Amino acid sequence: MAHTITLIPGDGIGPEVADATRRVLEAAGVKIDWDVQEAGAAVAEKRGTTLPDEVLASVRRNKVALKGPIGTPIGKGFRSVNVTLRQALDLYANVRPVRSLPGIEPRFEGTDIVIVRENTEDLYAGLELMIMPGVAQSMKLITERACTRICEYAFDYAERMGRKRVTVVHKANIMKLSDGLLLESFRKVAQKHPRIEPAEVIVDACAMNMVRNANKLDVIVTENLYGDILSDLGAGLVGGLGIVPGANIGVEAAVFEAVHGTAPDIAGKGIANPTALIQSAVMMLHHLDEHTAASKIERGLLTTFERGTRTTDLGGSAGTDEFTRALCEAI
Ligand code: NAD
Repeated sequence: MAHTITLIPGDGIGPEVADATRRVLEAAGVKIDWDVQEAGAAVAEKRGTTLPDEVLASVRRNKVALKGPIGTPIGKGFRSVNVTLRQALDLYANVRPVRSLPGIEPRFEGTDIVIVRENTEDLYAGLELMIMPGVAQSMKLITERACTRICEYAFDYAERMGRKRVTVVHKANIMKLSDGLLLESFRKVAQKHPRIEPAEVIVDACAMNMVRNANKLDVIVTENLYGDILSDLGAGLVGGLGIVPGANIGVEAAVFEAVHGTAPDIAGKGIANPTALIQSAVMMLHHLDEHTAASKIERGLLTTFERGTRTTDLGGSAGTDEFTRALCEAI
């Protein structure tokens, strides 16, 4: 039976990597009816909004979406589509596996970290005000409910995936109340999972640990902003933003997207690396219980990288199309 899935190609390199990902899924033999929805800059000019109502309705109906990046203009203007989607659909867990691939020189061999980032609150709650000219305030909103929920997700994930340790990343030494809530929730949830080793680390020390020896880390659970920054750091450890995938998981829906943005500097040039969105699609296939097709693509990616076919961001010479063709042949 075919799956009906919302596809949001997005802005910048989004349509290029989305097209490559569709080709790869087809080569793996998964039957998908794509419900293509426009969001972002292109639709803003036509519709006066970056997120038309039917996009949200489509994700709610299909319960699964694959999404390309969408630009968020810095400063005033439209609210971030990404943040709005996550909040409107209550996609509370952002899961970002940071894994090295063969043939790409990583900082450390065999890096395999999973960052579980709380996705709905923290400084992304959008609570900002200008107190007076020259003085702005952003509110960091942290609730016990969201902390408990994300910690439960991280421990359940660790159990399900055969992981050994969950480390909470916080700054409770300074933000004793807000980050203190995360720490307390983590400790309570950890008690219910005796098979998983709990660990605690302050965010700045975590950044240093990742750069010095990433292989000491296993599953990380953290707040929205720390998770955002640490996952880009993680991407840098394993070859860059071109390869790191992500999943936004909620109770009612799940949206799969790469960690990278719209890459305006290379958009339209046919050189974007589609691996990150393809790996996000692999996570989507596992979510849909299409494990055979997911494994085919995973193996195909390993073969393609072992054969040395790489896009320019990884020091290779292949364009998006050449890389995609090589991968489809390897599947
Ligand atoms: P970016 O991830 O778009 O680009 C950073 C650098 O990485 C650029 O040099 C780019 O060329 C490179 N890069 C990124 N993805 C690549 C790929 N697949 N292949 C090859 N090279 C790649 O980050 P940015 O420049 O800070 O952000 C650009 C826009 O994207 C901003 O408007 C930002 O708000 C938005 N953004 C969106 C999302 C999302 O939709 N989830 C995430 C991050 C940033």
